[in-house]
Amino acid sequence: MEKRFCLVKLATIFLFILLTLSSLYSNPEIQLRIAASNIKISLAGNLIVTGSNGKALFQLRRIEIVPGPFGIIINGRSSGESIIKILSSNLIEAGSRKFRKKIEIRQVDGKLSMYHALPMESYIAGVVASELPGLWPIETLKAQAIAARTYAVWQKYKKEHLETTALDQVYYGTQNEHPLAQQATQETAGLILTYESKPAHAYFHSSCGGNIASASEVFGTHEPYLRNNKCPYCYGSPPYFWNYKFSKREFDRKLGSKIAEFNLVNRTKSSRMRDFAFSSYPLLKKTRTMYIRSKLGYDKLCSSLITKCTANWYSVEFSGRGYGHGVGMCQWGAREMAILGKESIEILNFYYPNTLIKRFY
Ligand SMILES: [Zn+2]
Repeated sequence: MEKRFCLVKLATIFLFILLTLSSLYSNPEIQLRIAASNIKISLAGNLIVTGSNGKALFQLRRIEIVPGPFGIIINGRSSGESIIKILSSNLIEAGSRKFRKKIEIRQVDGKLSMYHALPMESYIAGVVASELPGLWPIETLKAQAIAARTYAVWQKYKKEHLETTALDQVYYGTQNEHPLAQQATQETAGLILTYESKPAHAYFHSSCGGNIASASEVFGTHEPYLRNNKCPYCYGSPPYFWNYKFSKREFDRKLGSKIAEFNLVNRTKSSRMRDFAFSSYPLLKKTRTMYIRSKLGYDKLCSSLITKCTANWYSVEFSGRGYGHGVGMCQWGAREMAILGKESIEILNFYYPNTLIKRFY
């Protein structure tokens, strides 16, 4: 017990030093993984391709990159490199997305991964613009900027890179940027949510459907500021009620099994259904609703707050409330709070009670 206490104390001191040191630096860099492919990556722009020694290999308007047996192949020619950097004075186009200045491609085990490093504040402005439309109230965008920065700071010290999908935070690139996202980011620059002097785990989601979920019921973790609560603010928002009907064939195909029967079981404190119980061939082993949502589509089974389910030989129909996991800030609720005149700090206090806003840098 004493040893454990000592370790906790050491970890707290370490985080305090980290927070203090980080305040000496402004706007740290964040590393994103944009895509992974074992086929090819196409890029366009005023591109300069460099190898590991920093020497320019090519200067081109358009490149096609594929994995090769002796390193990355660029426009049909082997570079002999497993890591290349692509630089541009302006934007680099990757499909429908655009990124600023630099991209790195790595080949590992015959597979390509594309990374993009950018300053934290540019990243936050991009996340706010990717998550919320520019017509939303500025106080909601500011609350989103603080929550997104907090999440990024927490994850930055946990893993090498962040994904650009809802697995971490959605980041489309520069093409969705809007002036209000920039303003919200600038007005909150460097601010994060903390709990006991550490960055909080600032999860957020689209709509809670009236019932905020605790972290323990969804992720099995125990952050005291991510607890069950009623949210009176998102009622009437577009994702508050949802309904989706699968054909039985589609349902079976997506789950990779012939389902004979199923039941929704283990209702959580916020009325979410934790699990599915299947009678199927082959028998489905993973039955958490979170996993089933990933298989059926997050935009079809919008949440685990399922209120009705009817199934027959031909179709399976679900009705429910809310969109997303339901933990932390409810974006549609945060929008309504701002419309009612609440400031970003009040919005964050409601969704992350007992946290404190502090300057990280
Ligand atoms: Zn809500």
